[in-house]
Amino acid sequence: MRDPTSFLAQEYGDLVRQELDWKLRILEGPSAPWCQIDGHRVLMFCSNNYLGLSNHPRLKAAATEAVATHGVGSGSVRPIAGTMDLHAELERRLAKFKHAEASLVYQSGFATNSGLIPQLAGDGDLIVSDELNHGSIIDGVRLSRAERAVYRHADADDLAKVLQTAEAHTPSYRRILVITDGVFSMDGDVAPLDRIAAVAGDHGAMVYVDDAHGEGVLGPGGRGIVSHFGLTRDQVHVEMGTFSKAFGVVGGHISGSRALVDFAYNRSRTWLLSGSHPPPTVAACIAAVDVLEQEPAHVERLWEHTRRFKKAMADLGFRTGKSTTPITPILVGESARAKQLSQRLFELGVFALPIVFPMVAKDQARIRTIMNAALTPDDVTFAIAAFEKAGRELGLL
Ligand code: PMP
Repeated sequence: MRDPTSFLAQEYGDLVRQELDWKLRILEGPSAPWCQIDGHRVLMFCSNNYLGLSNHPRLKAAATEAVATHGVGSGSVRPIAGTMDLHAELERRLAKFKHAEASLVYQSGFATNSGLIPQLAGDGDLIVSDELNHGSIIDGVRLSRAERAVYRHADADDLAKVLQTAEAHTPSYRRILVITDGVFSMDGDVAPLDRIAAVAGDHGAMVYVDDAHGEGVLGPGGRGIVSHFGLTRDQVHVEMGTFSKAFGVVGGHISGSRALVDFAYNRSRTWLLSGSHPPPTVAACIAAVDVLEQEPAHVERLWEHTRRFKKAMADLGFRTGKSTTPITPILVGESARAKQLSQRLFELGVFALPIVFPMVAKDQARIRTIMNAALTPDDVTFAIAAFEKAGRELGLL
């Protein structure tokens, strides 16, 4: 009899032969500026821990205390017996931070997009999505019964054309949902959300922004892309985010109207049917909101380092694309070059992973660097020197 699982080893073997498999690096301790990875002491230069909060003493103390007061598990899904006072407090605190009527916390950003999007648009509706949106949005759209259309990346004029065509559709769409990432994670560019919201508004469409990489980064106090553009909740209806990046913990969330939140938690299957966050996670998220509100220096330092690093890379002659955020891609072209550069940087003490095909086009391989506020100015100097040395050795400069 043929082994029904033989495809597993075969397909994995294909990935390995094409060098498309993930080789996991093991972090032996916290995600701190200097960390131990596979036995090497290296500067962390590619985590999403933008503000260094994943190792912040206030978050760690809050998590420890919550274990003592509330235990290590919530015991249930949120709608049955898994909503603790901590969950309710986090949602109150987040809504206040976001200047929104209400917020809702999911288990992850992925669970938010894949659970909520299919509920916001279904049969007889249309979802219009930026061509470079994150995979969790793509999966959310695929789970929906709505029709789909894609507009050119960050192009509000193209969105307007798609919406004009949609207007002529018969029968008329019941609802139209426009979805965009706020900051695009591979290139670090910011969606023109003001123009997108204006175009969507002209056509009576709902607007959903995934601000995973804008929170803690953009806008006054790191409040995110909606604050950055000074938009209102009538213009951007769903502001989605995650606690797994600048907030330093884990968990997804949405902010918007009370009606949005009431609808979302009664309808999202990922929220209704999956165990809720354990107490230490929730307490650490609350502490992260506190830190963002009370310690503005983290966001300021993130931008100081970012401006300095971007300028140094450009002055050296590296191509850094169109990023205007702490995500700075160092474009090198061929996948093999990006892998060599990453390996050499690692040997020189800087950990920055290559992003290669199929995550980006074949000739667009890059090292994706992500700045971190917990670095010192000397750390940034160290990283710049390593990039210069590796770049020269590999003939990139
Ligand atoms: N959206 C975007 C734009 C992301 O980059 C990510 C994380 N890679 C997610 C959603 C998913 O968030 P989480 O890690 O909380 O599942």
